[in-house]
Amino acid sequence: RSRRRWGRAVALVREFEEASATSVGRLRQVVDAMAVEMHAGLASEGGSKLRMSLTFIDNLPDGSEEGTYYALDLGGTNFRVLQIQFSGKGSMILTHRVQRQPISQELMTGTREELFNFIASTLKQFVQREDDGIDQIPDVRKDLGFTFSFPVRQLSVSSGLLIKWTKGFSIKDAVGKDVAQCLNEAMLKTGLNMRVAALVNDTVGTLALGHYYDVDTVAAVIIGTGTNACYLERTDAIIKYQGLLMNSGDMVVNMEWGNFWSSHLPRTPYDISLDDESPNRNEQGFEKMISGMYLGEIVRRVLQRMAEESDIFPDAVQNLSVPFVLRTPLMAAMHEDGSPDLREVGRILEDHLKISGVSLKARRLLVRVCDIVTRRAARLAAAGIVGILKKIGRDGSAGVASGRTKGKPRRTVVAIEGGLYVGYSMFREYLNEAVAEILGEEVAPYVCLRVCEDGSGTGAAVLAAAYSSNR
Ligand code: ADP
Repeated sequence: RSRRRWGRAVALVREFEEASATSVGRLRQVVDAMAVEMHAGLASEGGSKLRMSLTFIDNLPDGSEEGTYYALDLGGTNFRVLQIQFSGKGSMILTHRVQRQPISQELMTGTREELFNFIASTLKQFVQREDDGIDQIPDVRKDLGFTFSFPVRQLSVSSGLLIKWTKGFSIKDAVGKDVAQCLNEAMLKTGLNMRVAALVNDTVGTLALGHYYDVDTVAAVIIGTGTNACYLERTDAIIKYQGLLMNSGDMVVNMEWGNFWSSHLPRTPYDISLDDESPNRNEQGFEKMISGMYLGEIVRRVLQRMAEESDIFPDAVQNLSVPFVLRTPLMAAMHEDGSPDLREVGRILEDHLKISGVSLKARRLLVRVCDIVTRRAARLAAAGIVGILKKIGRDGSAGVASGRTKGKPRRTVVAIEGGLYVGYSMFREYLNEAVAEILGEEVAPYVCLRVCEDGSGTGAAVLAAAYSSNR
């Protein structure tokens, strides 16, 4: 009897693996779907699940920025203020100072005045402390890059309306308001001579920082708790805003790619139930297969079913039935357990999930589940990246159509950051490998994925420099 039950567990993993398959053929279909959806999202408002929003950033930093600039990074329960001194040549940063400040529950659910006053006064104290006379002339207004990682409808480089709060914030009188203006007013009130020069989200900051270091950078991707991407598009391809924009040059487009969906994505019953039980059903479909918020949870759902239908996790049904108990970093630690007897897997099961007595072969099966989930996530993210490259003619497929009749493809850099990519080496390796596999050996050497950390801080400061009124 127990042998049959072991067989059931193995069968469940096999079925899951088949349903999660990402052959290179399948990935190419995802690449095409991404490029098609990008077109649709640029053609009309609401034309695609990809929002494809304008950022008004049409001038990315190139390493020549000079002077001292500030950044404010607000995207969760902490915010950071930064002061960065750029040397003016060779993409060199001279000084980099940071202060981190938690935001209390009261501020997260209070009024907009309370929140922005608190931020402005923290900023003022930071400026007074750090401003020890280095190239600052007292009466010159200082420029600030404001990274605001909530949904915004951008009005210009330095203004945008808050669409809605997420991540536990709920300040009703701020919805629909220009958050840059709120901050400018609060700064004025505290007597701080500073203004928002650029209002951006974290992907745009990452692209800016990537471009500061390497001008061949054309896109940025973040894969952390959530996932998003932005890239540099020709303005004449942004059809839905033709009247509004100059039709020469480029502009950064914020894709909001977490909401991407395609019937080519390999979806399993576990993905469907995760989505059904989520507070944002039918939204963020791509994100739910890719990002750190969800990978551990997908694994948990598979293990729960295995616990229910076999006896390989003794007495674990209860413990495995709690949504989100298995956080992605723990899943990664089990996946990356290199010990021959999978000691770390056993320890994590005991310490964190209170599951003991799991046999070695069951632990091996669990590691395989982690591998299936992570490999699929990384390969789908890779297909998304190649989709962007395809849209802008950098994937090598355009050939004659793009005017490149002969010669080498152009060098192309994608800036990438986020805890999942940076901290989870198996994920990173699968993603890198899949990008090369999809592109093929002729084009792959010209495409470089470059980790670019702290786009939401340093990247925003360098955008403040690029859009400074003092420049
Ligand atoms: P955020 O996206 O929350 O702004 P990060 O980019 O640092 O911040 O991403 C944090 C997320 O990345 C975590 O929620 C977790 O899911 C994932 N993560 C971080 N470190 C690791 C790791 N070592 N292994 C796997 N996942 C990790």
